[in-house]
Parts: sequence; structure tokens; C-alpha cells
Amino acid sequence: LRLTRADLDALPNYVPGRSPADLARELGIPEAIKLASNEVPYGPLPGVVEAVAEAAAGVHRYPDMGVVALRTALAERYGVDPDRVATGCGSVALAEHLVRATCLPGDELVYSWRSFEAYPIIAATSGATSVQVPNRPDHGHDLAAMAAAVTDRTRMILVCNPNNPTGTFLRRPELERFLDAVPDDVLVVIDEAYREFVTDPEVPDGLTLADRPNVVVLRTLSKAWGLAGLRIGFLVAQPTVAAAIRKVVTPFSASAAAQAGALAALAQADEMERRCALVVAERDRVTEAVRKFVPDVPASQANFVWLPLGDRAVPFGKACEARGVIVRPFAGEGVRVTIGTPAENDAFLAAAEAVLT
Ligand code: PMP
Repeated sequence: LRLTRADLDALPNYVPGRSPADLARELGIPEAIKLASNEVPYGPLPGVVEAVAEAAAGVHRYPDMGVVALRTALAERYGVDPDRVATGCGSVALAEHLVRATCLPGDELVYSWRSFEAYPIIAATSGATSVQVPNRPDHGHDLAAMAAAVTDRTRMILVCNPNNPTGTFLRRPELERFLDAVPDDVLVVIDEAYREFVTDPEVPDGLTLADRPNVVVLRTLSKAWGLAGLRIGFLVAQPTVAAAIRKVVTPFSASAAAQAGALAALAQADEMERRCALVVAERDRVTEAVRKFVPDVPASQANFVWLPLGDRAVPFGKACEARGVIVRPFAGEGVRVTIGTPAENDAFLAAAEAVLT
């Protein structure tokens, strides 16, 4: 008896980073370091826990479905009208809503590969056809090939900048050339989950491109803002696109606790930026140090580094776990290592040296 769609059998699972609890259970390692999910290691921003606790007193009521206060705060921070903002249960949910709002079954969704592992899952569950354009040998997006992959069935293109998991990044002229080349009726979604870690001035802030009618900028509060567990993402788009997304969002998917915690986090922008600066300094230190063992580590503008280890990726990941450091291997391709605290990064570098030399 089959009760669910047969095509789901072939769909890969979204594999979350292994947790310290997994290592405690499986390997008897009591306090593993987790550098596997691109979280910032410094805990919630000041005031977030209190705001969530305060919201808890009202959880017998539904939250504000219009997410008005949070959308207004986001609009203010990013200098756009609130009607251009939509929120979702993490930016991953918004990516799904965007595909649902643009693609009918058989329509095409273009994105680079390797990129964020949720993209093919979203495409498949929405009935869209994935068109994956291989990254260049330097692990960055091949924008010319992505533009050339557009057909009259293409409804949406996902551009991840900086790219997860490679950390590679696109500069303004190449991105603008690409946007000029894409037909106006194809939505280009620039996924900027890691925007706050960008330090290279040549990497454009997607919001400076978002006045183009077909551009959507996707952001999250999960990474730099430290709210991965609360699940708030947002997008900035033209009002008609944002309104369409607000229509397809699952009702009440931004919980009262999440809305309150997000508002409290946004009030701590200076502290967020201070923490990002620590992460960035460590990113640059780790990149340089790990290149002694893996010379072709690409420069990263995100809060992780990519080790293109090919077939050694999975054994390397396992060997790091045995040393109490959880990283994220992608079989046959490479290993993504999230930047943690200086001590956590030292533990990773020691493990890398032990395994690779
Ligand atoms: N986009 C990219 C590129 C990501 O790496 C992630 C998280 N891994 C997301 C979106 C989703 O983040 P969230 O749903 O927590 O906002």
C-alpha cells in the first residue's frame, strides 16, 4: 500500500549536522565541539532569552499573523518599505514559498551545484525541475553558464552569495552582468544567509540590487543574529512579490516567541556586528592555517571554510569526530567547517593537522 508520492523515495534527506549528543551516545565523547551547522558560537544576543520568556506568558493566544512589528523593524533596519518584506519559518521556508509561488510542475529552477542542500529538495517537493549548473573549478558559481541554462520554462534562479558550502562569493560587476542577462520574467533570488560575515567591499549587498523588479533578497536571523533555534527568515522583494509570498506562507508559522526574540535581537545590532567581527578574524586565521594541510581551500566570505578533500571528505569527517570535533562532510566533494570560538577552532586545527599530516 503506497500512501505517499513515489517520487519522494529518490529524494535525498536534508541531513542536519551531527550533534554533540550523537557523539556522546555513539562514541562516548562527552563534550564534542560542533562546527557543523554554521551557527555563531556566542549564545543568544542580550535580551533575547528574556523577550522569549516574556512572550511565553501569552502562548495560549495565536501570534500576530501579519508579523507587523517585526516586519516594520526589519524594514527600518534595512531601509525599505514594510510591504516589501515577508517573513518565514527560517529562510529555508521562504525559499520553498518562493518556488511554490513561481513554479508550476515542470517549470525550471536553476541554481549552482554544489550549493545549499535544501534547494534540490525544495524543487522536487514543489514539482519544479531542478537545473543544476556545476560550479567552476575554483568552487564559485558559473554565472555565465547559469544565465545560459535559462529556458522559456525557467521561472526562478537561486544565487547563493556567499555560497554554502564553499564560502565563495560573487562580485558586483559579474552579478550585475548576470542580472542584465536574465529575462525580466524570471525571479532571481539572492540567498544572503551569510551576508553579515562579508568583509570584501566588492561583494555587493543584495539589497542594493533589489530595486530590480525581478530580484528577491533572502536573509536569515539564524546565523549572525544567533536565532537558529527560533526560525525566522525574511525576504525583501517588490511589493507584489512580497505580498504573494505572504499569501503562501503557512499561517502563523512565525511563533510569538520567535517574533519577540527576533525583535530583541534586532535591537542588538552593535553586539551582533562585534561578534561577527570576531568570527571573521577567526575565519581568516583558520583559512590560512588550514591551507598548510589543504592548499586549495578557497577564500571564504561566510562563517565557514570549505576543504575540497574529494574522496577523503567522509573519512576526514569521521576522524575529526573521533577527536571530538564535528564538521560537515559532503561525500566525494569536501568538508565544510563552521568557524567557532578561538579555542574551538584550535581544536579543529589540531585535529586537521593530526589527520592530514
Ligand atoms: N540559505 C542558506 C545558504 C543556508 O546555508 C541556510 C542554512 N543552512 C539557509 C538558507 C536556511 O537558514 P534558516 O532556514 O535557518 O533561515
